[in-house]
Amino acid sequence: AWGVASGSLSPYWVVVGAAFLLGILGVLPIGGADMPVVISLLNSLSGVAAATAGFVIGNSALIIGGALVGAAGLILTMQMGEAMNRSLGNVLFSGFGGASTAGEMSDKPVNRATADDVAIALAYADRVVVVPGYGLAVAQAQHATRDLGEALEDRDVIVTYAIHPVAGRMPGHMNVLLAEADVPYEQLLDLDQSNPQFPQTDVVLIVGANDVVNPTARDEPDSPIYGMPILEVDEARTVVVVKRSLSPGFAGIDNPLFYFDKTMMLFADGKAAMEDILKALKEL
Ligand code: NDP
Repeated sequence: AWGVASGSLSPYWVVVGAAFLLGILGVLPIGGADMPVVISLLNSLSGVAAATAGFVIGNSALIIGGALVGAAGLILTMQMGEAMNRSLGNVLFSGFGGASTAGEMSDKPVNRATADDVAIALAYADRVVVVPGYGLAVAQAQHATRDLGEALEDRDVIVTYAIHPVAGRMPGHMNVLLAEADVPYEQLLDLDQSNPQFPQTDVVLIVGANDVVNPTARDEPDSPIYGMPILEVDEARTVVVVKRSLSPGFAGIDNPLFYFDKTMMLFADGKAAMEDILKALKEL
């Protein structure tokens, strides 16, 4: 109203500047694994903004479209918050005055494995659960992972895929990638279906996942991701982690899983590793 009354563009730029500052200052302190909830909330707010603009210019298509985006985004935000065991208020404001989320990397030794070692472990397993994460998307390893899964099934190994609700960098990221690779829908298990299966699992094959399998979220109240439900892969007999290094994931914290006695680390690009393991499996 001020802008229209004054007939100049300066109020517009003041509002743009204030929104810019509010956006940056509001989002900057939010870190760790909470970002998906924030992204989803911002998506929802973009719908509300569109609906409001619709009222201003009297455009019902914009009002309806904006309301749908706003409502859908809000539902998704609530569901993601629930999946991560965080309330919206806690996600938005708990970062203020908090400590840095960067954890210290450990210099403990790890069990390095080769593709041959992993192929042997997989070939003689009865049950294998594959846990895909952001690294699978980066490496575009979904087809190679599916090929490996099929080769294991040909050997009568039971293969399923455990999908964490915030694995990857967008809601449903892993489901989309695995569907693209034609992994049968029945083999995709969500968090609640997967966790009871791990104690009966011989090998968990983690491809480029990190935060979603980090036991500190369950065990260490000081961890920035404490309280986020995780895939409890450490309940399985053997854990294989495929990633390029010991670098942290999105939350920027070390993962004690890498140093467990039962964990085999295969340092490689996700796609190359899946291809090498498949090759080694065929030679057994
Ligand atoms: P993470 O981000 O925790 O870890 C991904 C791992 O992939 C890294 O540690 C990295 O290790 C590895 N990686 C990267 N490139 C490759 C590659 N080419 N081959 C093999 N490995 C690779 O992923 P998660 O899926 O476990 O967790 C998702 C995180 O993202 C959570 O913290 C979640 O909160 C957050 N998030 C999720 C969103 C969503 O909507 N799903 C949105 C925004 C954030 P290295 O470099 O050693 O290879």
